[in-house]
Amino acid sequence: MTYLAVPIAAKDFKEALRQIRVAVTRGAEMLELRSDYLDSLNTELITKLITAAKAESEKPLPLIVTCRSKSQDGSIAYPDKLRIEVLSAAVKANVEFIDFEYESFRDINNQEKIRLALSQAKRTRLILSAHNFEGPFDDVGGMYRHIMATYPAAIPKLVYTANQINDCFDALDLLSRTSDKAIIFCMGRAGLATRILAKKLGSFVTFAAAERKTATAPGQLTIEQLKDLYRYDSIDEDTQLFGVIGDPIEHSLSPLVHNACFAEADLNCIYLPILLAGNRDEFYDFMYCVIGRRWLGFKGFSITIPHKQNALDFVTQRRGYIEPLAEIIGAANTLLLGPDDKTKVYNTDYKGATDAIVAAGIKRLRGVDTAVIGAGGVARAVVAGLTTAGANVTIYNRTVRKAQRLAAEFNCQFAPLDELKNLNAKLLVNCTSLGMYPNVDATPVPTEYLKKDMAVFDTVYNPPLTRLLKDAKRHHAKTISGLDMFINQAAAQFNLFTGKDPDIELIREVASEHLKC
Ligand code: NAP
Repeated sequence: MTYLAVPIAAKDFKEALRQIRVAVTRGAEMLELRSDYLDSLNTELITKLITAAKAESEKPLPLIVTCRSKSQDGSIAYPDKLRIEVLSAAVKANVEFIDFEYESFRDINNQEKIRLALSQAKRTRLILSAHNFEGPFDDVGGMYRHIMATYPAAIPKLVYTANQINDCFDALDLLSRTSDKAIIFCMGRAGLATRILAKKLGSFVTFAAAERKTATAPGQLTIEQLKDLYRYDSIDEDTQLFGVIGDPIEHSLSPLVHNACFAEADLNCIYLPILLAGNRDEFYDFMYCVIGRRWLGFKGFSITIPHKQNALDFVTQRRGYIEPLAEIIGAANTLLLGPDDKTKVYNTDYKGATDAIVAAGIKRLRGVDTAVIGAGGVARAVVAGLTTAGANVTIYNRTVRKAQRLAAEFNCQFAPLDELKNLNAKLLVNCTSLGMYPNVDATPVPTEYLKKDMAVFDTVYNPPLTRLLKDAKRHHAKTISGLDMFINQAAAQFNLFTGKDPDIELIREVASEHLKC
């Protein structure tokens, strides 16, 4: 079993009790009393807190008591003597676990005192912990062996900062190899997924904050995020993994959408944010790490900036399957890993866009005069989809030479932005970032150029109703929101992941709630 432990990090007894109550209410399975946060710490105070914590729930939660040293990110620099007295008092009060830093335990005086306290314990077990806040340990496996050799009855806790996602594999490997109780995961934004995978791989404990303001380590999620967003309660060793690979990734709607769809379809799958900094080399390293570790259970990925071309190149190199239009676009946003490690890539962006246009009532695109504004990544996918459907496309872009290049590839026209004054298209698609939050007053097309008989599609989806779409509505033009494109591409991706069609209205609800529209 993996315990979901919540740190209690308060300056005084009253605040600690409040935090304990919140943690119990929100579903904590264990509490970690961080006594190094308490002002005027003494043994009576910790004993009183332990008694209060045990009384807070009908079935008292297991407790870890720790008094972290300053060098291991403790809050107040209490001397070793007091820290050990506090832990000894916790042993006397019969807590389940005390946590002492391995580096402090190696001091023979400290070790003797901790061993003496534990020799009188009825049930308390020792967690020997090592944290590296700077980056990975030189040899995390060696560190594990040292701890076990020094005190075989200890539960080792090894936690380090992952500076990038590929730093996490040493921790995951070690966790998968240990059959005894151990606590192993990574801190930092890139380590976030390991806090969730800790349950699948059987870490003895994973930590989450009861409230955002009481988080005690970088990358620590809240209980609410862990349970509601990442489906923590449903995770077991058979859970299949999906995720979105990109940088940045924090604002991606995809984990919200796909996890909600997995829950709705009652599938034993979770979807993780995978912050992959770097470029081609880092992307390839990540994919090889995942492919070499089938036991992790990764089955598919959404791919976003800056890795869409890397995904395509990777699958090309492995002679995997490439959806023809993804190859033409030169970018993939979906990568699947088959049971035989066969890789497949697709691009659901163009389909998301063309489906949104068709759903708005434009059933036939053949011969339709279309203005595409922008010549970046989304414009490529949109132009590929539109030209394949036979639309007559002109590309307008600020950097004209980019419009010219894209037009040459897809056999269409191009023009500078000021030519929009002669706009005569029946369909206009904004593929620039103009109008996107927070610059919501920006628009790529002066309102006077819009006409009643136009359909106006803005691929920007945050906000769903952009300034361009508001202007178009004022001209009584038909409007198509980027949110529809987002929903369609996510639905197509879910279908590729699972072979099932998701509930479109659920995706809309989840995305809209997040975008507050
Ligand atoms: P990108 O590759 O960086 O391309 C950005 C485009 O916007 C370029 O054509 C650029 O022109 C133009 N642009 C940027 N700032 C401008 C300005 N101030 N004035 C005029 N043109 C400007 O970005 P992308 O990946 O194509 O994404 C574009 C937008 O698509 C995003 O902002 C997002 O809102 C939207 N999007 C929607 C979905 C969906 O599912 N609905 C999915 C992904 C993205 P230059 O070539 O001159 O720089």
